[in-house]
Amino acid sequence: MNYLGINAYEKSIHNTGSDAVFMAEDDGRTVIVVASSDGKAVDTHGFNGRDSGDGKFRAPLTHENACALRKLFPFTAPVCGLSKPRSFGLGDRLGIATPGHIDLFMNKDVFPIFAQQSIRELNLTGRTYEDVLDAATFAVFREGYTKGFGADGDHLKTAKDVEYALSLGFTMITLDCSDHIKNDVTESNAPAVSKQYADKYLHTQFDIEDGIRLAFTDAQLRQCVAIYGEAIQFAADMYKRFLASGKYSADFEISIDETVSVTTPLQHFFVARELLDSGVRFATIAPRFCGEFQKGVDYRGDIAQFEKEIKVHAAIARRLGYKLSIHSGSDKFSVFPIIGRETRGCFHVKTAGTNWLEAMRVVSLADPSLYREIHRYALTAFGEASKYYHVTTDLAKIPDISALADSELPKLFENDDARQLIHITYGLILGKKNSGSGQNTEPGQNAGAAGNGFTFRGRLYKLWKEHDAEYRSALVRHIGKHLELLGV
Ligand code: ZN
Repeated sequence: MNYLGINAYEKSIHNTGSDAVFMAEDDGRTVIVVASSDGKAVDTHGFNGRDSGDGKFRAPLTHENACALRKLFPFTAPVCGLSKPRSFGLGDRLGIATPGHIDLFMNKDVFPIFAQQSIRELNLTGRTYEDVLDAATFAVFREGYTKGFGADGDHLKTAKDVEYALSLGFTMITLDCSDHIKNDVTESNAPAVSKQYADKYLHTQFDIEDGIRLAFTDAQLRQCVAIYGEAIQFAADMYKRFLASGKYSADFEISIDETVSVTTPLQHFFVARELLDSGVRFATIAPRFCGEFQKGVDYRGDIAQFEKEIKVHAAIARRLGYKLSIHSGSDKFSVFPIIGRETRGCFHVKTAGTNWLEAMRVVSLADPSLYREIHRYALTAFGEASKYYHVTTDLAKIPDISALADSELPKLFENDDARQLIHITYGLILGKKNSGSGQNTEPGQNAGAAGNGFTFRGRLYKLWKEHDAEYRSALVRHIGKHLELLGV
């Protein structure tokens, strides 16, 4: 809308008394504007920018200005919210999905984590945690969303990364314990346990819930200690160092999912119990469930077995006072009703790649020839990309796109193998450089939208900006389907 002569985002207009602060499109750039009501000099509210002398001050979308915005309008800063019954992670790898997520979550009783990214994703997209958080802050301000959101430093493995996320104000830490989990332990090579463990866990039954009781055999206990002992110690150390000391406040998630061996309910119970007994307070645990949670496609495995196990996992979490966290939750439509039911509507579910896939679906609709170019490149880049992600994609099952009409391209997003092809190559697609061009990104610009020197990046971000409405409605529909099946 036209507001004080500027093309403003209507929902962003905030009157502070003597002036108005809002977001606007100005000269092809998105800026924060401070405008005084009397056309006189404005209070800059800590923003850095340019005063045009007519009572208007324009501030670019830099990290500095995002910090100033979070100070001025606390609703644009993330908050802790995992203690709410339902929470949902929305890894927005591109920094453009939050407006669509807001359209959906505005009317849902689910706490959204708009900013959620792992270090692996940061590296693959060339982004920083500053970018990730700022993109959410700017979107929340632009859309006038004041219900609160979280920011998750996802799959962090080191003290340095944990501190990096916390120091920026991230409100959730997902501690990835996988480097400390010993997968090669078997019943026969697990050493004997100390008397302390034996007294605590053997010759006793743990009453979890009606009809659910757990008991350890000596071999099972030895395995638990040998597999998870070091991971528990690591989690306790990180908790004491950063959270127990009161230095930072954040929701704490224990992730033991990125490992080859499935977490049995008994092992889950052991890990949680040991953590609680050593004083660690956590909001969620992400076990490695049976079956496969591959990226961007439905659950693969024995659904009856999954149902049997998650029933016990959920009961353990209820009994001990935290929530289950379901990772790689994108598109797991066949198990969502089970998750919703067995957790009795108390869960954290993380998605990421599916938001990127929806963005690429928009590309296939809006610019078929650009999509074809990217698809062909992705086929050549797949081998490299599969070093970072575990998938069992069969490229031979993807239709030859030269035989497809433009109107058939969006259908590729219903083919699991084509989905995974595009899903895991995102970093290489976004990072592909024109031959001969060097580093030429524009620092500080929200969401890495500067496309100089890149083969696809600039064209993609331009397209997504022009087709914002389509992307928003695609996300409302697609993520909405996730929530619906989870019983929200
Ligand atoms: Zn995970």
